[in-house]
Amino acid sequence: MNRNSYIEISKSAYHKNLAFIKKLIGDQSLFSSVVKGNAYGHGIESFIPLAESAGVRHFSVFDSHEALRVKKASKDDPGLMIMGWIAPDSFEWIIQSGIEFFVFDFERLKIAVELAKKLRKKARIHLEIETGMNRTGFQEIMFRDVFQLLERNQAFIELMGICTHLAGAENIANHYRLMKQIRFFNEFIRDFRNHGFSPRYIHAACSAGVINYPEIKYNMVRIGILQYGFWPSRETLVQYIGKKTDRNDPLHRIIQWKTEIMDTKWVGTGEFIGYGTSYMAEQDTRIASIPVGYAHGYSRSLSNTGRVLVNGQRMGVIGMVNMNMMVIDITSIPGAKTGDEVVIIGNQGDLSVSVASFSELSNQLNYEMLTRISSDIPRKIIE
Ligand SMILES: *Cc1c(COP(=O)(O)O)cnc(C)c1O
Repeated sequence: MNRNSYIEISKSAYHKNLAFIKKLIGDQSLFSSVVKGNAYGHGIESFIPLAESAGVRHFSVFDSHEALRVKKASKDDPGLMIMGWIAPDSFEWIIQSGIEFFVFDFERLKIAVELAKKLRKKARIHLEIETGMNRTGFQEIMFRDVFQLLERNQAFIELMGICTHLAGAENIANHYRLMKQIRFFNEFIRDFRNHGFSPRYIHAACSAGVINYPEIKYNMVRIGILQYGFWPSRETLVQYIGKKTDRNDPLHRIIQWKTEIMDTKWVGTGEFIGYGTSYMAEQDTRIASIPVGYAHGYSRSLSNTGRVLVNGQRMGVIGMVNMNMMVIDITSIPGAKTGDEVVIIGNQGDLSVSVASFSELSNQLNYEMLTRISSDIPRKIIE
């Protein structure tokens, strides 16, 4: 291995997560696999073939750059949907290649129509409705004009869907706000149909939406974090498990992040370790340097708090996490030596280090921790 660390992606764990998701969503909803943020840090180029081989037929990304990466990585010509940004010079190839995209303002709707005319190819759009998240989406005062534009340009538009996004379905504290969103969206759907439109798909649910608001599965769902084996929040897990007799976590993490010991040495009592004075050896301490730091996505806020696994034991990060390396305390494992495996996320022996556990230490959500993992680190699919 000519890389300071590597990532393994477990095929069998992914299959288990998919089976769980299938059971949750039933047969009536199209499952769109959300792969924005480099497939939540798992790596688009490795993840897409894995998902396709498991039967996934639709992907969602944030922007046109990610769409291109998915397109290159895929073999089966899956459905592909852009939920956010599109570079102005990308609209043409996106329409040309039949990629679906959110339309949330008049500018984009007009661009879509113009280019569809020019290319003689219908633009495949999902109308995004503002229901209370207050981010992107057509607002109520615009509906009349939207309806008119759609009607006038039916020949150039393939109405793939109408959709919205919930403002925090992973947190019960948002319940009132979300119920308002759902009611508004349902009214919009009725209104939209009354105007004679029939979108192919209606979608609003992300992972937490599917778990906490199953009534909004409609006929399509956009699921990210669950498929990677993580819960949107601890609360969502508690909510889910609370209703079950089987109290086991049904999800399986598919990512493991590993490196190896680069160097070891003894440091005497009273010495400071690393930059500055954040860690002083209170006894003679054996340390190991490992070649992973914040440049690779291991947060600096895990300085003096992170945990890794060596020789099947949990070892603490001591001192500051540096750009390319960090130091761990291996006093309790005299046998540890240069070249020994170090697990940053994943299992070794009976122990595991989960993203959730150090997300909590560093106050980061699973989402953020995962997507920070550098895309330069090689990903490898394992059974
Ligand atoms: C990220 C995202 C999702 C998926 O969210 P998860 O919580 O990971 O399931 C769905 N819809 C939109 C619009 C998103 O941005």
